[in-house]
Amino acid sequence: MNRIDWEMLQTIPDIPKVERQQMEADIVCVGFGPATAGFLATLSKQLINADGTPAVESAVMPGLPPQVLCYERADDIGFGVSGVVTKARALRTTFPDLDQAQIPMATPVREEKVLYLLDPHHASRRSAALRLGDAFIRAFRWMLPFELNALKLLWTPPFLHKRGGMVLSLGQFMQWVGAQVQCAGTVQIWPGTPVSQALIEGDKVVGIRLLDQGVDKMGNPSAGFAPGMDIRAALTIVGDGPVGFIGQQLDAHFDVPAGHHKRDWAVGMKFVVDLPENTPLKPGTVLHTFGYPEPEIFGFLYVHPGCVASLGIFVPSWFDSPVRTAYRYLQHWMLHPYLWRYLQGGKLRSWGARTLGESGQRGEPYLAGDGYARIGEGSGSTNVLTGSGVDEAWATGSQLAEAVLELLKTKKPFTKQNLEASYVARRRTSWVEREAQVAEKSRDGFQRGVIRGLTGMALAGLTGGRLTFNHEPVHPWARIPSVEEYYRDRVSAEEIAKLREVCKAKGVPLHSVLMDKVGWPAIPFDGRLLVSHQDALLMGGKVQASSGYADHVRFLYPELCQKCGAKICMEMCSGQAITFGENGMPNFDREKCIHCGACLWNCTQPLPCDPERTNISFKAGTGGLHSVEN
Ligand SMILES: Cc1cc2nc3c(=O)[nH]c(=O)nc-3n(C[C@H](O)[C@H](O)[C@H](O)COP(=O)(O)OP(=O)(O)OC[C@H]3O[C@@H](n4cnc5c(N)ncnc54)[C@H](O)[C@@H]3O)c2cc1C
Ligand code: SF4
Ligand code: SF4
Repeated sequence: MNRIDWEMLQTIPDIPKVERQQMEADIVCVGFGPATAGFLATLSKQLINADGTPAVESAVMPGLPPQVLCYERADDIGFGVSGVVTKARALRTTFPDLDQAQIPMATPVREEKVLYLLDPHHASRRSAALRLGDAFIRAFRWMLPFELNALKLLWTPPFLHKRGGMVLSLGQFMQWVGAQVQCAGTVQIWPGTPVSQALIEGDKVVGIRLLDQGVDKMGNPSAGFAPGMDIRAALTIVGDGPVGFIGQQLDAHFDVPAGHHKRDWAVGMKFVVDLPENTPLKPGTVLHTFGYPEPEIFGFLYVHPGCVASLGIFVPSWFDSPVRTAYRYLQHWMLHPYLWRYLQGGKLRSWGARTLGESGQRGEPYLAGDGYARIGEGSGSTNVLTGSGVDEAWATGSQLAEAVLELLKTKKPFTKQNLEASYVARRRTSWVEREAQVAEKSRDGFQRGVIRGLTGMALAGLTGGRLTFNHEPVHPWARIPSVEEYYRDRVSAEEIAKLREVCKAKGVPLHSVLMDKVGWPAIPFDGRLLVSHQDALLMGGKVQASSGYADHVRFLYPELCQKCGAKICMEMCSGQAITFGENGMPNFDREKCIHCGACLWNCTQPLPCDPERTNISFKAGTGGLHSVEN
């Protein structure tokens, strides 16, 4: 992509040149996720000597330790949406005396099971091979570990195990780390402060700009206009996750290494649930599922102490369905007889969704350049074979911290060359890189179906990545058929046209009526755990999006939306924030957006100037969920 296209992506109107306040720092970080937490936790401990003198000196405040600032979009430092079960190797390196009892909701992994869920309703779309397999399992169920329409796998490959690891709540863990980091007194973390762009001069990143306030939905100055402050720093650290706008900006400006792309994604949606008091599930139980509600959808259930569970599903980009509602599918998954016997009588505590970048090493951007470095999932760290992202993100953050300390101590500037020799070199020789290489092509089989995908994972995992299927991932927008095509053997085109008109008139998406039509049972709402999508927004912890900010989701070419048939942005929106608008345009309601970022890659129209991108611009904004347990 060239820089002109980047200007367009920004969707910022021409604001006359305004005086912006400026601040100087030594290091500025974008986002406070596990990656930046790993960076700050490692760095903050080493900036001051035991006698209280600076171990290294600030360039902007001589005599003091380096000034390190971190800006987080969400309203709290404990925001995060994740599983989490983790081996916690990198976390334990940073905190060798880690006492899990200090972290609310943390517990050691005690039991792991992988389950293949059969479809009790015969409503899912299963290939002939899968149907044959299901028939075989049902016929021989008396001799198999089969109960309540679920087959427990007798053997699971070692690369999937998290033995010796922990079950965490990411929100609680981030709050705990945030407290540790801030206690050190050497770094500042500012929640509720979205970063709007990196400041780039020539090919050097010189800091960041905070979001303008007092603007209308389109970003035009209105009453109380307060231009975002510029923070200039010798080093900008970008740990803004898989769909972060600053990462997108750097990819657009510096491009990505040849052959790299981000075409594999998933949206993960989760509930935190109070289990019934007499639950037989012990803390530390880890269940992983596949096969239902659609064969392509994976599920997880992790048990915390105190009869609380984190559970959810992943809807991947290679699921060729225009009916991609994670919310309704999550409810059907919970209602599967094997899981429902544990969940019945439970109560929703919180809810959330977030995009997972599943391209792994193939999605790796340039990791460092003059004045900047990239860490975490946005830098391709998530391991797509082992399903592990937190520990890897943390590890990349702490590798960068060690590198930064080395450069500060030897008084070397943060140039591309120096960052590559220190940070990138550390990363290349670490376990994160070794395991990422094994994982790189492990999921390519899913490009051609679930059975091939699972076989490919097993092959890659068991041969150390030597045997894989090499199916280059195609763009999500190129995969998804029209609704008519997808349902051609189940619902006629005429009927779909009628249903579409009815839904349009009601202003609701099409997926629910289509799912009803093909045999999915109605959800028996109970007001506790099975609640409407809108109720989940409220019960899940939706916070108000502050007024005076521009919309962070924008539709770039109206003509593309107008001719777009599937309007998948409305079908899959995790917060029901995108609905029918006027003249064939979608309408975005910032109040309902939970910042999952899934619309960015689910949109079915590629940009004419760059097929790696879609017709949606997704930037940092305020609001979203306040979900310290997710
Ligand atoms: C449902 C689900 C289940 C998962 N389960 C597991 C699991 O069991 N085990 C595991 O290891 N991993 C799991 N993962 C993956 C794991 O959560 C991620 O790999 C990990 O969180 C990545 O960390 P990160 O710091 O790179 O990015 P993130 O966690 O995405 O953090 C990035 C932060 O940057 C902030 N940000 C973005 N843009 C801006 C901006 N412009 N200004 C300011 N702030 C900004 C975001 O708000 C966010 O807080 C799961 C993910 C999901 C969605
Ligand atoms: S945003 Fe994308 S999916 Fe939604 S209507 Fe526009 S082109 Fe279609
Ligand atoms: S509009 Fe918001 S909630 Fe909906 S998919 Fe996009 S980011 Fe997620």
